[in-house]
Amino acid sequence: QALQPIHTLIINGAECEPYISCDASLIGSHAQQVVQGALIMQYILQAERCIIAIENNMPATLQALDEATSQESIQIVSVPAIYPTGGEKQLIKVLTGKKIPANALPTDHGVVCQNVGTAFAVYQAIIQGIPLTERIITITGKGINHPGNLRVKIGTPIKYLIEQCGGYSQNIQRLIMGGPMMGIALSSDDIAVIKATNCLLGMTNNELAESQSAMPCIRCGDCSTVCPAELLPQQLYWYGRSGQLEQCQDYQLFDCIECGCCDIVCPSHIPLVQSFRSSKGELIIKEKQAAQAQLAKKRYQNQQQRREKEQQDKIAKAAKRQAAIDKIKAAAAKRKTKGV
Ligand code: SF4
Ligand code: SF4
Repeated sequence: QALQPIHTLIINGAECEPYISCDASLIGSHAQQVVQGALIMQYILQAERCIIAIENNMPATLQALDEATSQESIQIVSVPAIYPTGGEKQLIKVLTGKKIPANALPTDHGVVCQNVGTAFAVYQAIIQGIPLTERIITITGKGINHPGNLRVKIGTPIKYLIEQCGGYSQNIQRLIMGGPMMGIALSSDDIAVIKATNCLLGMTNNELAESQSAMPCIRCGDCSTVCPAELLPQQLYWYGRSGQLEQCQDYQLFDCIECGCCDIVCPSHIPLVQSFRSSKGELIIKEKQAAQAQLAKKRYQNQQQRREKEQQDKIAKAAKRQAAIDKIKAAAAKRKTKGV
């Protein structure tokens, strides 16, 4: 399949969730390098245009980028600081007006979207020959004594980083890796930072939404109104709950970016995202099992074909041998008749 030419490179500097400010921090300290990395990527992709997107509530970041971009081929665009504008497909839609359909990749439509951290890593790798071994992480929340953005080595223990930020405050309730909407609650800080860790969030009771028991769906439609992926969360939930996973796929379950907007607005407090994650997991397992069964079937068919061929070869060889014997016998008989 021919590769689709890339016409637009988007460098995403819009923070993906509230509380997180590592991208703004990186641009603030290394705007030149981010811009250089973006230009390298634009050259490699041969993209006509390159856009660096930041949120419209970041005047200092905008100024840093304006100063760093003398190149006309790079546009700096401020996008509304509305969650989840920083999501890949959402940002592409805001910037280009293009809706990337379900099951399609931005590259299928001539667009590549990368994070500012990637642009910086490209600059370091190509210009300075430095591999990616560090990243900036936001360590924040009321549960942390001295929040801030730290440049850390990948593999650093989280416990150590929390200590560097003055430790936990007394009323810490939950430690989350990632943001408040899409992050994962950690049961221990005795683990290491990975390449994808953008935030460590210590939340107190005041910051956490009070958990309420789920009630039946009243089909108000609020969840679909707020869904940035234009899905029907109530339908996905219904099909997932009743085990009709094929219908979940028909309703584009895998387009759900797990932003949590539907969870927040649901008046029945239904844990929708939790249900979508579980349905996705089940579907992935089913697909893997189907692929394994298909592979096993293929192997069996190949083995059968091999055996049949071996059998046919054996028969052909035996027939050939018999024909040779018959020929020799006939020649001997002929000679005998002639009295030789
Ligand atoms: S917001 Fe909640 S109650 Fe309303 S339709 Fe969606 S799932 Fe049902
Ligand atoms: S989490 Fe809910 S609102 Fe967000 S994309 Fe998925 S279905 Fe839509």
